[in-house]
Amino acid sequence: MRKPLIAGNWKMHGDSPFVARYAAALADAGPSAGVEVLLLPPAPYVAPLAQALEAAGAGLQVALGVQNVHGEASGAFTGELSAEMARDLGAAWTLVGHSERRALFGETDEVVAGKLAAAARAGLAPMLCVGETLAEREAGSAEAVVRRQLRVVAGEAGPAVLASATVAYEPVWAIGTGRTATPGQAQAMHEVVRSEIETLCGADAAGRLRVLYGGSVKPDNAAALLAQPDIDGALVGGASLDADSFAAIVAAAGGAA
Ligand code: PEP
Repeated sequence: MRKPLIAGNWKMHGDSPFVARYAAALADAGPSAGVEVLLLPPAPYVAPLAQALEAAGAGLQVALGVQNVHGEASGAFTGELSAEMARDLGAAWTLVGHSERRALFGETDEVVAGKLAAAARAGLAPMLCVGETLAEREAGSAEAVVRRQLRVVAGEAGPAVLASATVAYEPVWAIGTGRTATPGQAQAMHEVVRSEIETLCGADAAGRLRVLYGGSVKPDNAAALLAQPDIDGALVGGASLDADSFAAIVAAAGGAA
């Protein structure tokens, strides 16, 4: 059985008062029975958020991670953060290849593969984001794009590294747009992800690997998405900035588990 995972990507939002308020609000949420919970604040807030959650005695057990790492352990890469440093700061997870990183910072499939390998080497759990743009979907190539994104990672980083990851399927046209994939559309693409993982890494890995859905997940659409057999959780952007909304999505995952 794959345990549901609900992850909140704060993107470049938040400040110290926000961290304190958020932790206090989560403290009021009930325990997340049967659900794993992950928050991905901007990297400087990982340790403060850990402390604030501890101090608030948050009802939810929350793991923490970062939104991006560099592919090298150290070096002359001004402004960058290595996977080792993220781990040292208290992160247990990292996103890799979020569509905003691919689109705004020019991350190719090969760069993404290098980051995934670096995360695995450093002992960070990587969450690999894949997904097609609207133009790719309209051109009928959604499936081919996602298969390619997975294939390049397996080729460059190795199938074992890919098999150790969590995958987030995030159609780019649904991120931050309020336009969610229907449960049926999402399920169909999750089946594609799992079948490609089976081809690349074998049936055992495909059966174990969690595939999260991301793209305008909110409390009111989470249950229907999470009820799909191949949707093992959600990567939540905008709605994760409201602790009550995030806790409601976690509760929906508990109901679907
Ligand atoms: C995301 O940033 O990964 C995301 C899915 O954002 P949103 O939920 O706002 O669409």
